[in-house]
Amino acid sequence: MIEVQNLTKRYGSLCAVDDISFRVEEGEILGFLGPNGAGKSTTMNILTGYLSSTSGIVKINGHDILEEPNEAKANIGYLPEQPPLCLDMTVKEYLNFVYDLKKCKFNRTKHLAEICKLMRIEHVFNRLIKNLSKGYRQRVGFAQALIGNPPVLILDEPTVGLDPNQIIEMRTLIKNLGKHHTVILSSHILPEVEAVCDRIVIINGGKIVADDTASALSAHYSSDRRLLTRVAGEEKRVYDILSHVDGVASVTCFGEKENGVFEYALVPEEGSDFRRALFAALSQSGFALLGLKSMEMSLEDIFIALTREQLPQTTRKGGKQK
Ligand code: ADP
Ligand code: MG
Repeated sequence: MIEVQNLTKRYGSLCAVDDISFRVEEGEILGFLGPNGAGKSTTMNILTGYLSSTSGIVKINGHDILEEPNEAKANIGYLPEQPPLCLDMTVKEYLNFVYDLKKCKFNRTKHLAEICKLMRIEHVFNRLIKNLSKGYRQRVGFAQALIGNPPVLILDEPTVGLDPNQIIEMRTLIKNLGKHHTVILSSHILPEVEAVCDRIVIINGGKIVADDTASALSAHYSSDRRLLTRVAGEEKRVYDILSHVDGVASVTCFGEKENGVFEYALVPEEGSDFRRALFAALSQSGFALLGLKSMEMSLEDIFIALTREQLPQTTRKGGKQK
């Protein structure tokens, strides 16, 4: 349904999207998750034909966005991060305007009424958009995307600025739409994506760092062999010491959990028990070991680990690759 192959976008020297590839199957809700600046909006703007890529291929329902832009775009409903609302129009005028822009062929009154009912904006139909709250503006933006009943919906941070009740409402709505549409939804908030999506692509620094179901991601990154440890002391130095402990295959830092105390996940080399060596290495260098337990990683831990930038996420010693 949506095919992205080796997509790259450079802004001058900045590589905002760096050779990403993924697919979204028909009827799937894909969560596009990443911190601010990861490249989500850039990717979505390219998927919808609003921005050209530096290189790579995008196909929507088999139509190449560059070679058959009209066919490709006709398959897409897009809710950009900043919905393109005309503030001086009423909701009615605006939706009719979009209806004309999209050269929609459905029965106008009936189609718009159905969408307004779905988005629960019937009672503001004759209001000026500039007088609507953020939540209602977002719904009008969403309504605009649904005009023409496109099979693919691309939603860029659809719940930003909404209050908790509106967020729950929006999630339910997206889930329902997902029954009959292919959806890509971006977010920098993990629970958002976890609540709604079948599959998650995590993007960081323009690169895809994970692509799987939420449960498979948890299963892959959790392992009862891993130990979670807390150590007081400067992150980089402690990280370096931990990486060199005999029997430790890799180290991931999860950030500062108490004042000056960082948490790390340690993966042992096959069959090794490094706990004594760890204690010795830390006490020799004067860093206090404040906790050590076997870990289960939540999806949130995985997200943080995969999208931390300060340090390499994982090191392997001695050039060993598994
Ligand atoms: P996200 O939506 O994940 O927050 P964006 O796709 O908006 O990320 O941005 C990705 C990176 O590209 C950021 O570093 C951002 O500053 C940069 N960027 C986005 N748009 C432009 C632009 N028009 N010109 C230059 N840099 C841009
Ligand atoms: Mg964005």
